[in-house]
Amino acid sequence: MDDRYWSPTVKRLTPYVPGEQPRIPDLVKLNTNEHPHGPSPRVLAAIQSELDERLRLYPDPEATALRHELAQRHGVELDNVFVGNGSDEVLAFAFQALLGHSGPVWFPDVTYSFYPVYCTLYGLPHETVPLTDDFRLPTDAFLPQQGRAAGGIVFANPNAPTGIALELTEVERIVAGNPQCVVLVDEAYVDFGAQSAIPLVKHYPNLLVVQTFSKSRALAGLRVGYAIGQAPLIEALRRVKDSFNSYPLDRLAQVGAIAALQDEAHFEAMRLDVIATRASLARGLEALGFEVLPSQANFVFARHRERSGAELAQSLRERKVLVRRFDQPRIADFLRITVGTREQCARLLEALAEILGG
Ligand code: PMP
Repeated sequence: MDDRYWSPTVKRLTPYVPGEQPRIPDLVKLNTNEHPHGPSPRVLAAIQSELDERLRLYPDPEATALRHELAQRHGVELDNVFVGNGSDEVLAFAFQALLGHSGPVWFPDVTYSFYPVYCTLYGLPHETVPLTDDFRLPTDAFLPQQGRAAGGIVFANPNAPTGIALELTEVERIVAGNPQCVVLVDEAYVDFGAQSAIPLVKHYPNLLVVQTFSKSRALAGLRVGYAIGQAPLIEALRRVKDSFNSYPLDRLAQVGAIAALQDEAHFEAMRLDVIATRASLARGLEALGFEVLPSQANFVFARHRERSGAELAQSLRERKVLVRRFDQPRIADFLRITVGTREQCARLLEALAEILGG
């Protein structure tokens, strides 16, 4: 590649590679943690009714109605809520505005692989903290020690791709123990069984919590994410946003997201369905000889006791079942499997039984 016109930063970038999005009919797609069921019918109706000549008008740059709905749901004020184009964008703004300027950003060594990408993109120093032998987050290692302190901390809760959640008391220890920097808690998967840190926000000026509509609200295609924090942190995000794109959320995304928040019954039923299917998927995998980490997310992370992850992922693919695998040596034998419909999970287990039996 002729990179002579590229900036040194872009030359150094190894971009995050998202899971494949093939459009093959009949594919059992369990590789990107999308919700197996559709969003609330109210979302579709709200978007339909917004589809008229008003599309010529810019959307509300402040997304006030949506932020108001989110503030109500989480028991906070309007100036505690920031919304963006998927939580990836909200995270990007948070890295740029709030992390790494007074010391290195700390994050676990097995976690969402976007974090090192943002650090490289924004030129932020960073250090990784290894997970324990059983893939848990070592809380003590995230506290300042021997004169070393972080200039920002970020972790996902539940963690990705392990699915393991940290107790709220442990999250609070990390936040309370690091008043010198912002602690960013990425709660993309929190609705599937973990405890949110949002109730702590009013006590800690250094806590920022990020959530998304992509997973538990089944709206990955609409691209809506948000952050909750004390007003000065939210103001910092707004400054970055306004310097970048004043209209991050389009009209359809704003009305669709509001409608999703107004259908609590649909949200609850779909969430509980995923949680129940997760338990039966884990049992099915264990019966086939897999070790399955305890997941509080809408996916499971599992490795077979005898067979390599690369080989299993390839054989599944040949049987039209797509799962996610990572090359990082420590987790190379694990498969990350999204909790699909019951039928999709049954097809995955049948395909694995065939592969392992053959
Ligand atoms: N955080 C984590 C831990 C994720 O796995 C994902 C999804 N890839 C995201 C954030 C981003 O999700 P979105 O941009 O769709 O909100």
